[in-house]
Amino acid sequence: MLTEEQIRKNLEKVEERICAAAKRAGRDRSEITLIAVSKMNPPEAILAAYASGQKVFGENKVQELSMKQEVIKEDLDWHLIGHLQTNKVKYVVGNVSYIHSVDSFHLAQAISKEAEKKGLVVNILIEVNIGAEDTKYGVEPEKVKDLICEISTLRGVKVCGLMTVAPATDDPEGSRIYFRQMKELMVDIRNQNYDNIFMNVLSMGMSSDFEVAIEEGATHIRVGSSIFGERDYSAIH
Ligand SMILES: *Cc1c(COP(=O)(O)O)cnc(C)c1O
Repeated sequence: MLTEEQIRKNLEKVEERICAAAKRAGRDRSEITLIAVSKMNPPEAILAAYASGQKVFGENKVQELSMKQEVIKEDLDWHLIGHLQTNKVKYVVGNVSYIHSVDSFHLAQAISKEAEKKGLVVNILIEVNIGAEDTKYGVEPEKVKDLICEISTLRGVKVCGLMTVAPATDDPEGSRIYFRQMKELMVDIRNQNYDNIFMNVLSMGMSSDFEVAIEEGATHIRVGSSIFGERDYSAIH
């Protein structure tokens, strides 16, 4: 784990880059939420970022999220950004402010059911497989509208927008076309005025390409390694 001081400096650098990208795009910094992706980093790293003023955190695994929520009592804003299985929905509903990774009616239905049981409405995003890659989760772009129409009937969820993980490229500019398509898709859906569908959140951009994402209209960027350092995958394998 990086030291608290290193994490603070990294957050400052990311903040400078967010401001510069927003400025280039003629956007206000306040339109963009930085989600610090803390997966595979210990609670101490999260608390270090929190001490520097970071309040919004993203985790991609339910078990890891629950473990961290148990030990961290500070008032953090948690987002689930990774794939969610229906049998784990009950551990998430009520414990996060957004679920970014809804990619089937079946899953949305399970979330809605659990939410209604708890008397809640859960904010969800539809994960779009914008590069139509075989290896990725997410709905294919041409199927998003049909899925949204179906989900609009569910009372326990509120569709707030779209999320994507762009296909990996060496050059951040390689993501631009996909981010642009995401924005177009969002505007297109917004213009349909579906009942119960709000298209205000566009979650896209990671350490490698968040500046391009901001230029193309991201409202939420998910940044991990630029804040917490490279993740140590060897430790879990
Ligand atoms: C890990 C992860 C991120 C952050 O990735 P970095 O490259 O470390 O910034 C963003 N989004 C999702 C869905 C992730 O799983």
